[in-house]
Amino acid sequence: MLIPLFKKIIDFLDSFPEIGPRQAMRLFFWLVKQETKVKKQFLENLKTLFEEVKFCQNCFFPTTENLCSICSNPKRKDEILMVVARETDLLTIETTKAFQGKYFILGGLILPFEDKSLIRERLKILEELLNSKKIKEVIIALPFTREAEPTLKHLEILIKKFPRIKFSKLAKGIPLGGEIEFIDPETLKIALTKRE
Ligand SMILES: [Zn+2]
Repeated sequence: MLIPLFKKIIDFLDSFPEIGPRQAMRLFFWLVKQETKVKKQFLENLKTLFEEVKFCQNCFFPTTENLCSICSNPKRKDEILMVVARETDLLTIETTKAFQGKYFILGGLILPFEDKSLIRERLKILEELLNSKKIKEVIIALPFTREAEPTLKHLEILIKKFPRIKFSKLAKGIPLGGEIEFIDPETLKIALTKRE
């Protein structure tokens, strides 16, 4: 029934995070059924996304410029750096409006048996950044899960190499096992202002 082109697209959708084969199939048929106008607009947006969007040179948030809107904002403090695992964590923290520093996105977590060369590469960049003397304070805002522990340990060892840097973690009031993106902004705001 499914011609090779369909199969290829369904397989691609299946590779999306948290999307299974059945959902990929549903998404595929939903896409096919959209109006021509909608499909054309989506195709244009996708083309721009793939051809023009790159990663911010400082924090690695996707942007069409060299720097994202946070990194290019002169009102944000250069000397305070918050390390997050994912782009969505940054967005959630931004909704609290309680943080005036800049970010560094690791791109995920260090997990056993998984090739995470992207994170290793970013950790190297982070080390260079910490070495640059500009950073005075680092706040680690990783998810409060078991899964995040190896990454947390790695970061703690890394930051301890720079005793001049003040170091803290988000902790107060955040439930264990909590993913940052699902924490309500008020709780997150408290965790930010009363960090340990
Ligand atoms: Zn940036």
